[in-house]
Amino acid sequence: SSKQRVILVTGANKGIGFEVIKKLLEESSSSSNNLILLGSRDLKRGQDALLQLGSPSNVHVLQLDTSSEESIARATDEIKQKYGGQLDVLINNAAIASWNDTAETARDIFATNYYGIKIVNKYLFPLIRENGRVVNVSSGVGAWALHDMTDEIQKKYKSETLTEEEIDGLVKDFISAIATKTIDKIMPNTKLLGLCYSGSKTALTALTRVQARRWSGAKNVLVVSVCPGYCSTDLNNHGPGSRPPALGADSILYVVNTPKADLENGEFYQDGKKLPQ
Ligand code: NDP
Repeated sequence: SSKQRVILVTGANKGIGFEVIKKLLEESSSSSNNLILLGSRDLKRGQDALLQLGSPSNVHVLQLDTSSEESIARATDEIKQKYGGQLDVLINNAAIASWNDTAETARDIFATNYYGIKIVNKYLFPLIRENGRVVNVSSGVGAWALHDMTDEIQKKYKSETLTEEEIDGLVKDFISAIATKTIDKIMPNTKLLGLCYSGSKTALTALTRVQARRWSGAKNVLVVSVCPGYCSTDLNNHGPGSRPPALGADSILYVVNTPKADLENGEFYQDGKKLPQ
């Protein structure tokens, strides 16, 4: 389309988010004329990323630490004051990972990968234009973790009537089980590593479904989650067998650019295909 879209990608100074920005720029130079906000918690790292792109005039760095409500509030004001106050697409890409499951990592990981996205969405949803889109970058490991949880918890997560408060409760139980080393009560016999990271993505994929239900009506907003696939980035120390992050970006851009009629609200996609949650 030739319509200008305003698009924010969080955690876009490197990795998959940075590749998303690159591809959005390619789109801008051909058909549309996107206004792109490159989210970065560290201003300098954001500015370095902008330089790497050749400082195109339609890309702006937005300082945004998604784990801090203060930073989110400040970034929201900046969007209102400098960039017209409306967003067509919000891509919640920022996340952290750790393979250490301690009380401290549980707190940090859920603060960014789950609670942070809830706060970002709370502040930025009012700025999303009619027919806009919110993309939560989750992971297939969320579904693996869910599969290893007790039947009772799986039933709760999969319920059609799940609420944000119920997800918060499940997350709280998960974090305290990690802290008290009783996670076997939630995930008996699991062989997964990085339980906090995977558990944060279980919660995020479920949150997406609940937010889609709540928000689709008001402004016809599409809310979906995406797995970028296993990509070579700092997040996984460029693990063996990982694919180029540009392919992860394609997986995200599929739900950004595919006509809405061909997508289902609240669903979870990877490489253009709907996956079980
Ligand atoms: P990277 O570690 O390469 O990039 C993560 C980005 O998020 C960085 O820009 C980082 O900033 C930013 N970030 C982290 N915490 C915050 C915060 N509190 N506020 C703002 N920005 C923050 O990871 P990927 O590119 O691999 O990950 C992108 C997304 O894809 C994540 O959601 C991840 O979970 C998901 N994913 C990745 C997979 C993979 O194989 N790589 C597989 C499945 C899902 P900084 O540079 O300052 O640290």
